[in-house]
Amino acid sequence: MNFNYKCTECGREYEITPEIMLCPECSQKQEPDKPLCGVLGVSIDGSLDKDFDIFDFLPVEHEFFPDIPVGNTPLWKPVNLREMLGFPNLFIKDDTLNPTASLKDRASYLIAAFARKHGIKDIVVASSGNAGSSMAGVGASAGLNVTLFVPKNAPRAKIIQALQYGARVSLVDGNYDKACAYSREYSKIMGGLNRNTAYNPFSIEGKKTVSLEIFQKLNKAPDFVFVPVGDGVILAAVYKGFRDLKQFGIIDKIPIVYAVQAEGSSAVCRALDCGEFGKPLTSNTIADSVAVDVPNNGYLAVKLLKEYDGKCTKVSDLALLDAQKKLASTAGLFAEPAGAASFAGFLAVRERVPKDAIVVLLVTGNGLKDIDSAAKGVKLPDKPIKSIEEFL
Ligand SMILES: *Cc1c(COP(=O)(O)O)cnc(C)c1O
Repeated sequence: MNFNYKCTECGREYEITPEIMLCPECSQKQEPDKPLCGVLGVSIDGSLDKDFDIFDFLPVEHEFFPDIPVGNTPLWKPVNLREMLGFPNLFIKDDTLNPTASLKDRASYLIAAFARKHGIKDIVVASSGNAGSSMAGVGASAGLNVTLFVPKNAPRAKIIQALQYGARVSLVDGNYDKACAYSREYSKIMGGLNRNTAYNPFSIEGKKTVSLEIFQKLNKAPDFVFVPVGDGVILAAVYKGFRDLKQFGIIDKIPIVYAVQAEGSSAVCRALDCGEFGKPLTSNTIADSVAVDVPNNGYLAVKLLKEYDGKCTKVSDLALLDAQKKLASTAGLFAEPAGAASFAGFLAVRERVPKDAIVVLLVTGNGLKDIDSAAKGVKLPDKPIKSIEEFL
């Protein structure tokens, strides 16, 4: 197998080295307050058949990956939801079961392997919380030093998680977009490998394994995949996995992907509707993992949605909390609000989905990561009881 970076805008190819992040040509066009220009994809040459090993699809050799068990998450049949909603072929891809409890581990895993291959010891990342705690955890298993820039309002659990893994954490007086800017400045001064989502090409490439695993379980591509969208990296990664499979003739169609966004953070939906990224709006949603003013991977996300007839749907915070509670109480899966967004989006558009379709809900992050948001969806017991009679 042979791998190269390939610009998702101009198609120029580059050798894969740690020095290159964005296309040197297209990134020149970068304007302020717009998605990143010159995001790089990875092109693959070679041939693979349907009994592939997932590592054959990845641009770093297996020997460099740390021993932490990332991926291979269950694709399971939520029987109660199937019956309740009347979709007999509904599946959940539960990526809350990754080692640091979010899908972000898939990218951290590939990036950690890449760092080890090139003898790089220091990784820098800006994050709303999950990418940071993920890089910290996977980095710990790979013996890397991880520095994080996190908005000061990030859920406490994610910050503490990162500190437990031994990362150096800087709380940024500002939002995620600001944390991204600081991390890039820090990288320029201090060096090391920057893991920022979309900026580091492997942040997309690493996450494509989720689609490869879905194929391996179903032995075909599903009809629909519902994906929570903030920066649009997971979305692009889901497409990348299926596109790779199609390139090798292992599948013949790309699923219809629903990009689900929070109403208060919906730049990708807006751009898909009106054809361009206008002036950024300040994001406002309880789903911190998808809260972003300017989606870093916005251009590629919109391009892919257009090319493969993908759809966008927006859900309110109330709908997110409701979906979170329903998923937990009906299927036994406790997801953070962004993680439950795929389910919220499915609930919102299910009339438009044929009942017999194979539908996969991608659940991206565990509910324990953000207890304060989860608390909004339940009623806590009033006060401690002093006798059993008070409770009867
Ligand atoms: C990062 C994240 C998302 C959104 O992914 P993008 O690539 O930013 O679109 C969704 N859910 C969870 C739990 C995440 O951590």
